[in-house]
Amino acid sequence: MTARIIDGKAIAQEVRAEWKVRADALKARGITPGLAVIIVGEDPASKVYVANKVKACAELGLYSEHIALPADTSEATLLAKIAELNADPNIHGLLVQLPVPRHIDSDKILNAISPDKDVDGFHPMNVGALATGSMRFAPCTPYGSLILLQKSGVDIEGKHAVVVGRSNIVGKPMAQLLLQHHATVTICTSKTRDLAKHTRDADILVVATGKPKMITGDMIKPGAAVIDVGINRMENGKLCGDVDFDSAKEVAGWITPVPGGVGPMTITMLVANTVQSAERAAGK
Ligand code: NDP
Repeated sequence: MTARIIDGKAIAQEVRAEWKVRADALKARGITPGLAVIIVGEDPASKVYVANKVKACAELGLYSEHIALPADTSEATLLAKIAELNADPNIHGLLVQLPVPRHIDSDKILNAISPDKDVDGFHPMNVGALATGSMRFAPCTPYGSLILLQKSGVDIEGKHAVVVGRSNIVGKPMAQLLLQHHATVTICTSKTRDLAKHTRDADILVVATGKPKMITGDMIKPGAAVIDVGINRMENGKLCGDVDFDSAKEVAGWITPVPGGVGPMTITMLVANTVQSAERAAGK
């Protein structure tokens, strides 16, 4: 059996079209959803991510502000900029692209963003809201991964979901989202003993480790849905995931490719969170 390939690009287009309808409805009422993205410094990868976020907003007719600050910007200046955007009624979503330069305390920055505009879902209040089931903003990558499962017709309720990785931006919120959708959830880390024993028992396997091709076909339960969050650049310049796609696709029931799987969903859900935030602000 060969797995069904989950086409992240196509699903992202479909989801964007759905959110465009909601953005257009707001615009008809005179409200244009707005996203502000702050970048500090010159990290090339971060610059590409920010440019793509701004581009996605433009495609959906959203307002966006791209604030590029020099690498030597003080923490106080950055906090002042955040306070200004927190108070700006044209901005419904606000994020600071991570990583920030070392002299800036990233926790302090995440705490300073208004929880009502925290479209990355990284503010402790939103992390808590996700954990207690009163979610406002789900972090974009796990949120996008969840939508990929749902749009592919993968049943979550009652299934055993195994998440490999426990980062605050992917693993932990992914586990929370799956739990909220009534999966039985196991989280594995670098300290897990006999990882394959756990992964082989997964009906749904989400891998976010940053370790290229570490999950091989023999570690996957036949018919499982495999979501590969990893993005790794190989020596030949090509991208690969944390799952060994060639062996995994022979065993899995569904699988996301890298690139073209989870990646396109992340920015899509950022746009979705921004529109949702504008809807909430309009309802107040
Ligand atoms: P982190 O480095 O923050 O976390 C990696 C996690 O994987 C840790 O919890 C670590 O465990 C665990 N881990 C590492 N090695 C193993 C192992 N051998 N067995 C089991 N668990 C292991 O990474 P991120 O969560 O930020 O990112 C993960 C991957 O996802 C990366 O490839 C990244 O590029 C990609 N990514 C993709 C995005 C997208 O849009 N598609 C967005 C964000 C990330 P421990 O805690 O014990 O150290």
